[in-house]
Amino acid sequence: MQINNNSTLRRFKTCARSYGFLDAHCHLADSRISANLEQELSEAKEAGISCFISSALCQEEFKWHQNQNISQMKWTAGIHPYYEKSSDDDFNALIKLCDIKKIIAIGEIGLDGRNDDQKWQKQILLKQLDLAQNYDLPVVFHVVRKYYELYKLLKKNFPKIRGYLHGFNASMEIAELLSKFDLAFSLGCKPPKKEVLEFIIDRGFFLFETDAPYQKPVDDKNDFNHLKNLMWVVDKVSQVSGLEIDVLQRMQSKAFESIFDLKLDLSRN
Ligand SMILES: [Zn+2]
Repeated sequence: MQINNNSTLRRFKTCARSYGFLDAHCHLADSRISANLEQELSEAKEAGISCFISSALCQEEFKWHQNQNISQMKWTAGIHPYYEKSSDDDFNALIKLCDIKKIIAIGEIGLDGRNDDQKWQKQILLKQLDLAQNYDLPVVFHVVRKYYELYKLLKKNFPKIRGYLHGFNASMEIAELLSKFDLAFSLGCKPPKKEVLEFIIDRGFFLFETDAPYQKPVDDKNDFNHLKNLMWVVDKVSQVSGLEIDVLQRMQSKAFESIFDLKLDLSRN
């Protein structure tokens, strides 16, 4: 077979291009970040982070995201089980965002054991999982102390779910259970124990996130988490796994592409 030199070269250049990291979960609309957005983004870019998946938790934040023109940002929207401004009233606005193709996933949605309104949480979660299925969108999960309940609910109703578990830091037993689904583990500033982390790296389907301004690194003295701290997470995973940063970067890109079925431009621009 004759090789077309031009297209081969082009493909090679694309592969060899230096990719930046993706922050798979952050909150750009939170006033702690949005008040200083330009600086936050430029410090992150300096550190090697070139793309952000921002999470919108209520109608006010849906609007904020719609009004932005940030080329490095994609966003997700969902009714959060614990966030005080999230409510049932956001559901119609969420459908609209799906209709006009503004969001790349439904989330963050899930179950949170810190609240005693478990019945409502389950109802609104099921409604949103239906929505994700109808619009063929991935899901970003927020789970606190309710991983096993989520497992049962997904197994029974949505075994073909795709997406990721944001800020995953649960036990090995839970990691193994949830690995049965097409869900990636998104690793943040509070990563799971070493053996769980090794299991996740071996499985090879993971992302990195800051969840900024939430979840700052343990030894960080700042008031809140910053976007540039994604590299703290990457370094930590690199130390535990012994894998080079560029290997982790390629693994993350692969996971991203398989979840979203699209290619974000991760090149440094
Ligand atoms: Zn979050």
